[in-house]
Amino acid sequence: MEYQSTRGGESGVSPSLAIVKGLAKDGGLFVPDSVPKLPLSLRELSELSYQDLACEIMKLYLTDFTEEELRFCVDSAYDKKFDTVEIAPVVKKGAYYYLELFHGKTLAFKDMALSILPYLMKVSTKKNNIKEKIVILTATSGDTGKAAMEGFCGVEGTEIIVFYPEDGVSPFQERQMKTQKGENTHVAAILGNFDDAQSGVKRIFADEAFREKLLEKGYRLSSANSINIGRLVPQIVYYVYAYCQLLKKGELSFGEKLTVSVPTGNFGNILAAYFAKEMGLPLGTLLCASNENKVLTDFFHTGIYDKNRPFHLTTSPSMDILISSNLERLLYEIHKKEEDIERFMTDLKERGRYQISEEMQKLLGEDFYSGSGKDGEGSACIFQTFKETGYIMDPHTAVAKLLADHYCYKKG
Ligand SMILES: *Cc1c(COP(=O)(O)O)cnc(C)c1O
Repeated sequence: MEYQSTRGGESGVSPSLAIVKGLAKDGGLFVPDSVPKLPLSLRELSELSYQDLACEIMKLYLTDFTEEELRFCVDSAYDKKFDTVEIAPVVKKGAYYYLELFHGKTLAFKDMALSILPYLMKVSTKKNNIKEKIVILTATSGDTGKAAMEGFCGVEGTEIIVFYPEDGVSPFQERQMKTQKGENTHVAAILGNFDDAQSGVKRIFADEAFREKLLEKGYRLSSANSINIGRLVPQIVYYVYAYCQLLKKGELSFGEKLTVSVPTGNFGNILAAYFAKEMGLPLGTLLCASNENKVLTDFFHTGIYDKNRPFHLTTSPSMDILISSNLERLLYEIHKKEEDIERFMTDLKERGRYQISEEMQKLLGEDFYSGSGKDGEGSACIFQTFKETGYIMDPHTAVAKLLADHYCYKKG
């Protein structure tokens, strides 16, 4: 398996090098040259533990990792840090199943991938004979920062520096980050908002002279945000796992389609669902749920991606995003013309918008359906669900539940 840039500027990149690099030279994202099929039958896969399943799925994408190396990464990540042996349990409440991705160390869904990324990075640097220390720079609006610091804490050969907007994270998140243990973890508040933090980090990455200077001193910059293929691949696993759990419990029959509704921000989580589906997992429509920042919902409905709009601060802040980076990977998967992807992204950068063809829009419609919910509807949904089932869901999950309700109603 080799990786190439969605914009065509790089190809033939090994999986481990794609992980070390994070982003391609031309600004594109790394995508695998083909999507592998599920390695075993669903019956066989459903007998596996989360860890064994993770090895089976991930080895198809990380083909230059040995079995032992992958085992080491998986076992180091998905261990007692998680408060349940199932790692990602599926629970039934009312008419729905909930895939619980919050059993990791920081209680954030991002633990699913950020627990393993540091180990993937460690093995990858060794494989590529990279002697420098890896320095991870991350801007955060709250969740990612803590989950990344926890993941990289104490991982040999790495340092992590997190930047957060001084008044832009919750007091709980601020305390989570400031009290982080580990000699190699660092956090700084910046004056400004999340975009300022993000732009600052991007400026550091783009500074060639600074990068050279760091290399001389034995440091190499890298990123832990969700554009790294090392964050996407581990997320495919829990969709397969969820399906298998339902099979095992007799809630699904073999081959029956499972519809998933995913609270979406940077489009990483739902893209993993798409890859799982392409691998042959029987998933139905992928419901892409947005909050009031419904740039994705509008995109799926009109074929126009337009970030020129007011930015809303909501109670689901991890979805307060107007540039969903991973969407670029989906565009590439359905339309393998690098020059077009490059043009869309240039339009986005220069004009804040781009438009795909009707043909592409139709292709997207075959797999995706999107809708958005408002904060008020979300809190009503949390209250209602609690009243009916005793289950307490978080505001991000509520956005996904709202869309699932709407979709089921529409389907009758
Ligand atoms: C990050 C995050 C999301 C959005 O996921 P993406 O992969 O960025 O689309 C949704 N909910 C929670 C709780 C998150 O932390």
